[in-house]
Amino acid sequence: MSNETPATVPTLQVSNLHKAYNGNEVLKGVEFAVNKGQVKAVLGPSGSGKSTMLRLMALLEPADAGEILLDGKRIGASDANGRIAHHSERKLAVQRRDIGMVFQKFNLFPHLTALDNVALGLTDVQGVGKVEARERAFEILDKVGLAERDGHFPSELSGGQQQRVAIARALVLNPHVMLFDEPTSALDPELVGEVLEVMENLAAAGMTMIVVTHEVRFARRAADEVTLFDGGVIVEQAEPAEFFENPQHERTKQFLSHVH
Ligand code: ADP
Ligand code: MG
Repeated sequence: MSNETPATVPTLQVSNLHKAYNGNEVLKGVEFAVNKGQVKAVLGPSGSGKSTMLRLMALLEPADAGEILLDGKRIGASDANGRIAHHSERKLAVQRRDIGMVFQKFNLFPHLTALDNVALGLTDVQGVGKVEARERAFEILDKVGLAERDGHFPSELSGGQQQRVAIARALVLNPHVMLFDEPTSALDPELVGEVLEVMENLAAAGMTMIVVTHEVRFARRAADEVTLFDGGVIVEQAEPAEFFENPQHERTKQFLSHVH
């Protein structure tokens, strides 16, 4: 049997995804997929469930119902009938390794250098030896333009640099897909560009990405498809030119009138 994933199988796919908090239904049957090498930008109003969708996809919380498929294989704690299966935490941890996540807040370890923040996942999660981990971490730091900052602590780095370290920390584990949750929303405006540039380079290099963002410019330039998420469901999905120039749904037109 071949290990290659057939081109027809999405890298990450959710179907009929449901999630409620205290009876408040946040995800109402989400259908969403990203193919290998594809970049999907997700736009949508605050409180519509975008972060919840990403957290469920990253297996940071269980879904109430629905399926999450990575390379065609079901992952996570819910079974086909939406029941919570008694997966061990260890099994989830293994599945999580293939999904990289970058948050609005970078949450680097303050007592570790940029290099050690990146190397930590390799030593702790993947059991890579310290010397090799640091070599690989350095290569990735170089990719995000921070080779010369390897010995700096987070407090000695700008917000944009810290977010680039956070991206490197996720990348070093060789994820099959990268999820970004408003990665530039916590940054001063003058620092947004350097982070978007790293993300655009990643996209151009073929990384599979789902990016929740308010950056219309990024969505236009880097995304293969743009999605409007609202009220716990996908409202509209199209190529950027189509999505921005010729939206089909009233809700999309209304949303775009506020962000344009
Ligand atoms: P978005 O990222 O689109 O702004 P979120 O996914 O963060 O939306 O939140 C969607 C809704 O779910 C909001 O009403 C939010 O208050 C609620 N919510 C999210 N996470 C939790 C939680 N852990 N406990 C209770 N309510 C939550
Ligand atoms: Mg959010």
